[in-house]
Amino acid sequence: MESILVLTHTALSSEIEAETGAALTRASLEAVTAGMELAAQLSASLTIGIVASDPTNLSKGLPSARLLAVSGEAFAQPRYATDAAALEALARAANATIVLAPASSRFARVAAGVAHRLGGFIDTHITAIGGAETVEATRWFYRQRVEAVLTRDARPWFLLLDPGTHAAYAGQAVPAQVEQIAVQPLAPRTTVSGLRAPAQGAQTIRPDAKLLFVAGAGWTKKQPDGQIHTKEAGELILDFLRLSGASLGSSKSLVDQGGEGEPVLPFLTHMNQIGQTGATPRHAKGLSTCCHGEEPHVVGWRFIASRRAISLDPNCGWTRGKADVVYVADAFAVMAKINALLQTAKT
Ligand SMILES: Cc1cc2nc3c(=O)[nH]c(=O)nc-3n(C[C@H](O)[C@H](O)[C@H](O)COP(=O)(O)OP(=O)(O)OC[C@H]3O[C@@H](n4cnc5c(N)ncnc54)[C@H](O)[C@@H]3O)c2cc1C
Repeated sequence: MESILVLTHTALSSEIEAETGAALTRASLEAVTAGMELAAQLSASLTIGIVASDPTNLSKGLPSARLLAVSGEAFAQPRYATDAAALEALARAANATIVLAPASSRFARVAAGVAHRLGGFIDTHITAIGGAETVEATRWFYRQRVEAVLTRDARPWFLLLDPGTHAAYAGQAVPAQVEQIAVQPLAPRTTVSGLRAPAQGAQTIRPDAKLLFVAGAGWTKKQPDGQIHTKEAGELILDFLRLSGASLGSSKSLVDQGGEGEPVLPFLTHMNQIGQTGATPRHAKGLSTCCHGEEPHVVGWRFIASRRAISLDPNCGWTRGKADVVYVADAFAVMAKINALLQTAKT
């Protein structure tokens, strides 16, 4: 009989998500959903492990399950030594055979080490978990081209779940007792002295946004008047992101231009790049602008459910069946109009 442990952690105070109203991260609550589904499928026991400075109120938003917590000031901040010790203690206390954890930066860096300490195994980038008799974990390989279903005999088996693959748990609050798990006293060498994050609004990559807005190289190319309008392009794009809350993606050509000494949009980096050699984000909708829609770019749109594009080129890749709707139009004009409409709707 499997014993399932879901590992969760709190958001840093700057990240607490208004959307769920919980102090556990959204990705943690997604892992809770995955754990509940798997426990029901396998008729297995479910334990939820919490790492937090103070877990008192966190249990209120969790389903009926055994709740374990490692708490205290030492566990308020991400740090390898304390996080690894906490997860190890939780896994041992739960006697876990299957451990589900969100692939947050906090847990992703310690989970492999913890699996090793326990003599177990880990798989990452898991997008789905199924199986009635045995656990079957799904992940993609080769830049999201090949989907594999994995089974393993090794236990404990750690599965790091990609965020955005499950609904965040938002069920009824069940009164529950949280068991405190003691961790061997540690003398960590790392002191967390503070948190430095980009100023509010400067962060353009927003994994939880409903819309992915992609900028292509056309934004910095000569326009029909024979001039380039990079400054105007930057303003239109940033205004749209501010008004819509969309996440910003880019084609490779556009982010590569900086190295070639061509005009660039200063807020774009390779972190924004979507595609074969970039990211494959998950958003409900995508809007591509001034981008040709070539295959190495579009492969990064694999998980974008509804796709639209604005391009001057009626023969671009998007029009050849890669987007649901293509507007053959000048993106400068279209985005200026959209921004004006959004601004009116806001005020
Ligand atoms: C091994 C390999 C890996 C690669 N990996 C990636 C990857 O991960 N991601 C990626 O993006 N690319 C990748 N590429 C590059 C990819 O093949 C394309 O070269 C790139 O995506 C083109 O970028 P683009 O469409 O922005 O630019 P362009 O091809 O220059 O297209 C610009 C488009 O903008 C349009 N345009 C111009 N002005 C306007 C306007 N005012 N309004 C509307 N439209 C306008 C033009 O009509 C044109 O269609 C890869 C290539 C290789 C060989």
